[in-house]
Amino acid sequence: MENAIDAHASQVDVVIENSGLDLIKVIDNGDGIANEDVPLAFVRHATSKIQNRHDLFKIMTLGFRGEALPSIASVANVTLQTRAADSETGLTYQIQGGQVVSEAPAAGRFGTAVSVRSLFYNTPARLKYLKKPQTEMSLIVETLNHLALAYPQIALSLTHNGKSLLKTAGNGDLKQVLAVVYDRKTAEKLVDFKGASEHFKINGYLSLPEQTRSSRSYFAVIVNHRFVKNFSVSNAITSGYGSKLMVGRFPIGAINIELDPLLVDVNVHPQKAEIRLSEEGELTSLIAAVIRDRLSQENLIPQALENL
Ligand code: ADP
Ligand code: MG
Repeated sequence: MENAIDAHASQVDVVIENSGLDLIKVIDNGDGIANEDVPLAFVRHATSKIQNRHDLFKIMTLGFRGEALPSIASVANVTLQTRAADSETGLTYQIQGGQVVSEAPAAGRFGTAVSVRSLFYNTPARLKYLKKPQTEMSLIVETLNHLALAYPQIALSLTHNGKSLLKTAGNGDLKQVLAVVYDRKTAEKLVDFKGASEHFKINGYLSLPEQTRSSRSYFAVIVNHRFVKNFSVSNAITSGYGSKLMVGRFPIGAINIELDPLLVDVNVHPQKAEIRLSEEGELTSLIAAVIRDRLSQENLIPQALENL
């Protein structure tokens, strides 16, 4: 999915069968891959997203390590269909256990579709350590939810065994995505906020102090379009509410944080789920102040949701 987003897709559809054991398919309408580059995409550590080592310090894409495709192709049966925007014909490329099985020209839509079947067929120990199908499925849903919140301008869908589990409009409206990820009633009560300081721009939606949950995980933190966990940011959010929150209760919402990519280090966590930020003190003060001010305004009336 991250590859689809890096390829500028405006629509990404995910089709899952049997919690991913039978099929994981990601279909995008992005740039596609030039036919001659397809084998390279499966070479370990090959990436088109970094040109030189300086690029490592200002990562703008979700991927950059060249690991996803070779890793999945070494433990499953993977079919990649792709057609680049300037290409008359595309390519269907099948690879299993790291070995190319077939390769054929293919007509078809622009963009890329990656299908994964027989996951871990050659690594029984890893197959055994998959969690219960329901648990694996809820992890997939969670991943989709996070991407949906980080990319309201991309139309995302998730289908499991033919049943639609998630669908976003892709119209850029974060509040509508919050209504899809949580529920409409919850989203309707959220109010918007925004602010800026020397190095940061923030915006998002937050719940009023009476609408809370018992965990921090209902406030999405998104840094330069990457969904992350960051304790300092989460703490700054709750400190903005101050004594308005009951002990053990946490607000609901989402915050987008934008900053120069030079000030973010995404290399501290293998899944890039945690990041290190420079000027963190400036950011946490900004967040707490913006939230405090917003909550102290009178007549906090959430805007209604339209077209849902
Ligand atoms: P990374 O994303 O770190 O570059 P991947 O193994 O995920 O590594 O992908 C390898 C390369 O294959 C990418 O750099 C990109 O050029 C190409 N690629 C993979 N998936 C797609 C896609 N859906 N659309 C376009 N190009 C893709
Ligand atoms: Mg990738």
